[in-house]
Amino acid sequence: MAAKRVSGGSADIGAQYFTARNPSFISFLNHHAGEQRFGVWPGRFGYQNDDGEWEAFPDDSRYVGIPRMTAITRGLSSSLDVKSETRIQHLVRSGRGWTLQGSNGATYGPFDAIIVTAPPAQAQELLSNSELKMLADTLDESVRHIQPCWATAAHFAAPLEQPYEGMRCHDEVLYWVANNSSKPGREDQGQWWVLHANPEWSRRHQDAEPEKVTAEMVAAFQRVIGSENTPDEVVSHRWLYAKSSSTDNPGFHWFEDQCIGLAGDWLNGGRVEGAFESAKGLAEKILSR
Ligand SMILES: Cc1cc2nc3c(=O)[nH]c(=O)nc-3n(C[C@H](O)[C@H](O)[C@H](O)COP(=O)(O)OP(=O)(O)OC[C@H]3O[C@@H](n4cnc5c(N)ncnc54)[C@H](O)[C@@H]3O)c2cc1C
Repeated sequence: MAAKRVSGGSADIGAQYFTARNPSFISFLNHHAGEQRFGVWPGRFGYQNDDGEWEAFPDDSRYVGIPRMTAITRGLSSSLDVKSETRIQHLVRSGRGWTLQGSNGATYGPFDAIIVTAPPAQAQELLSNSELKMLADTLDESVRHIQPCWATAAHFAAPLEQPYEGMRCHDEVLYWVANNSSKPGREDQGQWWVLHANPEWSRRHQDAEPEKVTAEMVAAFQRVIGSENTPDEVVSHRWLYAKSSSTDNPGFHWFEDQCIGLAGDWLNGGRVEGAFESAKGLAEKILSR
């Protein structure tokens, strides 16, 4: 649920919106994040069918952070002791619990139990570094299923007139494009559009120069929306661990002997609500012990 600072504001370069099938998710957000920090994106949403024609998506409540996606995590963490910008290198056994070793040289803890909510490749690295190879090996399959995604935010001084604010593309390069400025609470001059490349193209261009990637994504955007308008500012970001293609959804992992739990969207169908459900399941498991 990331946002990148851009001229005049910010652009959501990761999750674009989230749905809430489980009513307890919205109650949770109202209570812990604050109801002013998110709201419904009243946009029009469409997708390109196999013939390249555009069709409307069914109506749905699509929620976004206000004024940017990160407003939600800011709200959720405001009453917690969070150490940001801190990479945990490994875990060290400390009596019956664990101490965390940061890559900055600092240690944290001791703690009775650890919950890791990193993507599977990073969770696996953390467990391997912590002499927990057996636990790390259980993640091989999950790591294989993670797909990258190149994201580009492009600014257009004059608004692009399009029938939809969010579009799922059927294109050799792009998977999704959205008018970020149409989300509630954004006060951009002109329009910021966010473009996401599809997993296959992103994998083939994983190590390509960002400038080349950006140029190809912008050209694909012009082709998809049928416009020759060129952006006056672009910024790109490569997500190495964007999305899991796995259909195996255990919800979470809890290793009782070590008191280590794993949670995250990749264990529960992907997406923001999946991450919430995964964490909720793990928290309930721990509290029931
Ligand atoms: C391009 C893109 C588009 C998306 N679009 C949508 C969408 O439209 N709708 C939707 O519902 N979902 C979408 N998603 C998915 C959504 O972003 C995820 O489901 C959600 O962010 C998962 O939350 P999480 O807490 O499980 O993991 P993450 O958000 O991945 O958080 C994991 C965190 O762990 C940190 N970390 C990793 N290793 C360490 C370490 N060693 N020490 C300390 N910290 C560490 C990472 O820095 C990161 O902050 C999208 C994702 C991407 C990348």
